Amino acid sequence: MTLKFNDNLLPTLPIMEDLPVDRIIGITSTIPIEIVFAAGYIPIDLNNIFVCDPSAYKMVEDAESAGLPRNTCAWIKGIYSAVRKYHIKKVVSVIQGDCSNNQALMEIFQSEGIETIPFAYPHSKTDKEFLHDQLMRLADSLGVDYSKTEEMKKRLDSIRAKVHEIDKLTWVENTVTGEENHIWTVSTSDLMGDYTIFEERAVRFLKLAKNREPIKYDLRIGVVGIPPICEDLYSFLSSIGAHVVFNEIQRQFSMPYSTKTLVEQYSQYTYPYDIFSRLEDIQQGINQRNIKGLIHYVQSFCHRHIHDSIIRKHINLPILTLDCDRPGRLDGAMKTRIEAFIEMLKNIFS
Ligand code: SF4
Repeated sequence: MTLKFNDNLLPTLPIMEDLPVDRIIGITSTIPIEIVFAAGYIPIDLNNIFVCDPSAYKMVEDAESAGLPRNTCAWIKGIYSAVRKYHIKKVVSVIQGDCSNNQALMEIFQSEGIETIPFAYPHSKTDKEFLHDQLMRLADSLGVDYSKTEEMKKRLDSIRAKVHEIDKLTWVENTVTGEENHIWTVSTSDLMGDYTIFEERAVRFLKLAKNREPIKYDLRIGVVGIPPICEDLYSFLSSIGAHVVFNEIQRQFSMPYSTKTLVEQYSQYTYPYDIFSRLEDIQQGINQRNIKGLIHYVQSFCHRHIHDSIIRKHINLPILTLDCDRPGRLDGAMKTRIEAFIEMLKNIFS
């Protein structure tokens, strides 16, 4: 099946209105999309269709009007509205390894007649038996032979390798901006619903990025935490001389480790597990990429905000914690805090 896309150099979403709705599997977080593709479905990351929607802000308000509490994270409200807006009928929901809000959202979907397929990461990344069982169950629910999903992994590995190359160009050659890095890595959660088109765009982009002049910047920083909901964070950072060379969680979506099986791949992916493997990954990124400061992005009303104190305790670098609620542009107070932080780093490291 050929999906339709607007032409673009960077990853974009398929034109939703043209998709066969009975083939779409909405996903609320990164899940083993190898299984979804192998089963012949189109995975669509509901976070992406929400945040890229020109009326993303209104989608949050719509969810509140439909009864979702104001003090729930905006991603949950956006996902809810995205499912309604595009009449999505099937959703794979992460019920362990993401958040309890997602679990409750799944119950809302069930109460509204939407089919939900639960997927749980194990409590510990070392519990490979549990993970294997979950992968098998997911394959079973979607009616695909498990061996086919491992074959699909090999195909997707070669595509993800291109995104790893783009990531490398960001911090080695400095020819890819932090925002481009964010878009490419965050889009690996569903590979635009069409991995062939995604790969073609990645090849095109790599060719172009390899021939660019290096970006001029004053210092290198990292953004850790879940992908920011605010639309202009990266462009604002680059306008004040900060080159983002590490997008922690987005890079995790791209499955940056070399693995042989799906079990290995999804047990090394740090996001669903405890903070300590994330800390190791962050520290490695800091050393490897010569990072001088971190922005820890936290979503309002998200339990992951609590990790801020652990990150500060273990990472010996200046850290700015940035809390944002709804989609849209940074407000004046946020810009002032970011500017002051970057100025301070410039003074320390110049
Ligand atoms: S931001 Fe936090 S609360 Fe919101 S969906 Fe993600 S993990 Fe859950």
